Amino acid sequence: MATPKQLLVAGGGIGGLAAALACARQGWQVCVFERAAAFSEVGAGVQLGPNVVRLLQAWNLGTALRAVAAFPERLRVRDAASGQPLATLDLAAMPARYGAPYATIHRADLLALLHQAVAPRADTALALDRRVLGFEDDGRRVLLRTEGKAIDGDALLGADGLWSGVRTQLLADGPPRLTGHLAYRALLPQATLPAALRSAEVTAWLGPRLHLVSYPVRGGEALNVVAFVQGLPPGGARGATPDALADWDHATNAADLQAAMAGCCTPLQDLVRAVPAWRLWVLADRPPLRAASEQARGRVALLGDAAHPMRPYLAQGAGMAIEDAEALGRALRQADTAGIEVPTLLARYALERWQRNARVQARALRNGRIFHATGPIRWGRNLSLRLLGEQLLDMPWLYGPQQPAR
Ligand code: FAD
Repeated sequence: MATPKQLLVAGGGIGGLAAALACARQGWQVCVFERAAAFSEVGAGVQLGPNVVRLLQAWNLGTALRAVAAFPERLRVRDAASGQPLATLDLAAMPARYGAPYATIHRADLLALLHQAVAPRADTALALDRRVLGFEDDGRRVLLRTEGKAIDGDALLGADGLWSGVRTQLLADGPPRLTGHLAYRALLPQATLPAALRSAEVTAWLGPRLHLVSYPVRGGEALNVVAFVQGLPPGGARGATPDALADWDHATNAADLQAAMAGCCTPLQDLVRAVPAWRLWVLADRPPLRAASEQARGRVALLGDAAHPMRPYLAQGAGMAIEDAEALGRALRQADTAGIEVPTLLARYALERWQRNARVQARALRNGRIFHATGPIRWGRNLSLRLLGEQLLDMPWLYGPQQPAR
């Protein structure tokens, strides 16, 4: 039997652990290097469309997911100023339509789910407290330099997030761009909320120049609330230095958010006032990659936010990282079954992924403009949502099965 090939993964976030699982399942030996001292995600939620849940189920994580996630039956869109309902999407119909439900989950629960699947595997090693410093690809092997020591492998995956060092070395492009949007996030135990504020649904309250999304996590025990507003971080643009941004999480002032939401309807202001402490994210992204050759070169490939950091307005950033992972595993399987060279397999992975990722990035950007619309555009948006509702909110191209690349 051939010796298993070795994949080195920089970064042990949702993307890195998903890739480790997907590639180990296809017979690769995987080693993940994470700079943090623990595999952890901050206290906030993440929505997973049926396109993502389908993959988790195929990895035998369906039961574990059911134990920790919530499965809201409806997405409800409302106008943030008037409180008027605009449209609904029947999420309960997703299993029949797309073969998997729509899930909402605490990030830590999603990471734990992946970690529990990866950690016991003999073909996977997880190294904490190991910052990746750089790599050398000599065409035959790739050498990864980490704090402590260097290690070589057949392929390197940069899953090191928005500020990816692997990407910087591979593409020599500049830093991510500030979007001028801030995200305030909070997690509320539903039992502590007045009955009128508890919710088992996904609710999106739209604009002007802001929107707010809430949904249940932890089987419905907690309500995840995230408010997006246009503005600068504390300290203005100077407070948004790469170092400050790389930390992502900032202590913040609830008064700023309440002031930004002064024109919103009473139920929405009540919800915002019910939050005892917010955490602030300064949102940054990158334009889509211009070609597949930017997502993989030689023996090095990028995945997740390292490849395509996007605005969170389609709720698919982690989803695309998980889709990347599945496509990478499928591509790498051919190293043994068809004897194809690793750089060719990575190029196939990139070819399969980059256009879809670019489309999702573009759609997320457009959603932000629509969600935050003012004046006549806001009026047109509300009318379209009232008239076309479900047709606009449902996205078969996103949630349905993918056509494999030729
Ligand atoms: P990351 O989560 O950033 O992980 C990168 C990992 O690499 C980290 O653990 C980091 O410590 C490590 N690392 C970095 N540098 C090094 C180094 N030099 N050496 C070793 N390790 C390193 N997505 C959805 O699908 N649905 C949603 O509803 C959703 N909502 C969102 C809401 C907000 C407000 C935001 C900001 C994002 C949202 N996203 C959502 C997007 C999603 O969070 C990201 O796309 C996803 O977490 C990216 O995962 P990743 O593994 O690629 O990167």
